[in-house]
Amino acid sequence: MKRIAIIGGGISGLSAAYTIEEKRQSGTPVKYVLFESSPRLGGVLVTDRVDGCLIEAGPDSFLTEKPWAADLCRKIGLGDQLIGSNDSERKTYIVVRGKLVVMPDGLMFMVPTKIMPTVFSPLFSLRTKMRMAAEWFHPPHKASEDETVAQMVERHYGSEMVDLLADPLLSGVYGGEASQLSVRAVLPRFADMELKHGSLGRAMLAARKKMGRAPNLPARPLFTSLKDGMQQMTDALVARLDPDALKTSSLVQSVIPQDDAWTVSAGYQSDQFDAVIIATPTHAAAAVLQATDENLSRELGEIQYSSSVTVTLGYDEKIRRSLPPGFGFLVPRSEGRRMLAATFVHNKFPHRAPENRAIVRCFLGGARDEQILQSSEGEILEIVRRELRLIVGTALNAEPLFARVYKWKSAMAQYSVGHLERLQRIETLRQKLPGLALAGNGYSGIGVPDCVRSGAEAASKILAGMGMWSSA
Ligand SMILES: Cc1cc2nc3c(=O)[nH]c(=O)nc-3n(C[C@H](O)[C@H](O)[C@H](O)COP(=O)(O)OP(=O)(O)OC[C@H]3O[C@@H](n4cnc5c(N)ncnc54)[C@H](O)[C@@H]3O)c2cc1C
Repeated sequence: MKRIAIIGGGISGLSAAYTIEEKRQSGTPVKYVLFESSPRLGGVLVTDRVDGCLIEAGPDSFLTEKPWAADLCRKIGLGDQLIGSNDSERKTYIVVRGKLVVMPDGLMFMVPTKIMPTVFSPLFSLRTKMRMAAEWFHPPHKASEDETVAQMVERHYGSEMVDLLADPLLSGVYGGEASQLSVRAVLPRFADMELKHGSLGRAMLAARKKMGRAPNLPARPLFTSLKDGMQQMTDALVARLDPDALKTSSLVQSVIPQDDAWTVSAGYQSDQFDAVIIATPTHAAAAVLQATDENLSRELGEIQYSSSVTVTLGYDEKIRRSLPPGFGFLVPRSEGRRMLAATFVHNKFPHRAPENRAIVRCFLGGARDEQILQSSEGEILEIVRRELRLIVGTALNAEPLFARVYKWKSAMAQYSVGHLERLQRIETLRQKLPGLALAGNGYSGIGVPDCVRSGAEAASKILAGMGMWSSA
């Protein structure tokens, strides 16, 4: 019987465990133990219920375009629990000089693909609109080195586009900054499009045409989630694992290879395994591997993480009627606010709030406001309520019916320039340690679907090394 240790019980570790569990149930002689330092499994996937409303403390959904999370949900019997975002209400605002300005139709991520809505949009200056027109004729370009998202977007559309769209969009997804994040790691499609087509606008349109959609099929929603919230997925996964294999409140300090085995030490206990999957943020993986391989530990430790805070406020029916339609808004850095974005949850996922409730979820923190973690919940609520009043208007003077604050320390990986080269160095070092696999959001995708994929891939790599995996 082979034994595999999994370190970390977030979605990445649970996905790895489920892959092994499936093999175990089909008769493969393999066992696993999952070590999780906190008392609960699921990592940052936390769903609460307050006053009839469903509140997401961490992720609220995932991109439909990336199939791995929805595929896993179907496998574990949650296919009928998958729901799409209410895209008929999809409208996002950017805060410009304190006011909400709607993003023009046809923007794909930050690339304009429709002429008229962009031309008439009050969001952009005439100068940026002229840059957008000229972008259509951008020649193919291969950057000799990795560069930041800001550098690439500026080359195509100018600095206003970086401030109004690139930076706020990346704050929303990565809690990061366009001037730090690597275009090759974060937007590899953009680097490809620039190389082949030159113009990102033309490339987006060509891609859309190529994908084409069967005429009678409805468009897929942009975001997918679960009826009972994101934690429904981790709860269902946990229910399908071997309960004896799940060790919560077990912080792993080290994993040391000895002969053909790995010694995993957690607290005062240590145990031997044939292989180890580390599915934690890379800063935690660096600590666990410090005594094993200094170089690998250093490379892992150099991947930066940012922290974030989510604040959910609940309001009554009267406030709900006075709030703008749409999914919410993004706040560019030039506005000088601490809030990065806010979601009108009752519009994005209507069933999460009864008809007589409004839910506003706000994001703070990110790479440029790590200090927010030091603020008390009361101080954070004060900031959020003041900024909401200034941005959305006096409707939000009202006392919320409820408020919840969640702090996430060093939870969002920042793929900075050179990230892909660092991953190669990490892989070279990892290969020298047979029986070790790495998974999580620090490598090749921060979203829930990528974490599901990375956990499953790490497990299949380990099983393949034991001659227990065939993709057939
Ligand atoms: C506020 C927020 C909003 C987000 N929104 C979205 C979204 O809408 N859509 C989306 O797709 N993604 C979103 N993400 C990103 C996504 O949720 C995460 O990248 C993903 O869930 C990370 O999963 P993970 O298992 O790799 O890490 P984690 O969830 O961080 O789990 C790692 C686990 O390892 C444990 N651990 C650490 N060290 C040790 C140790 N030494 N021993 C034992 N256990 C250890 C930790 O306690 C933790 O439970 C969001 C993230 C945050 C924080």
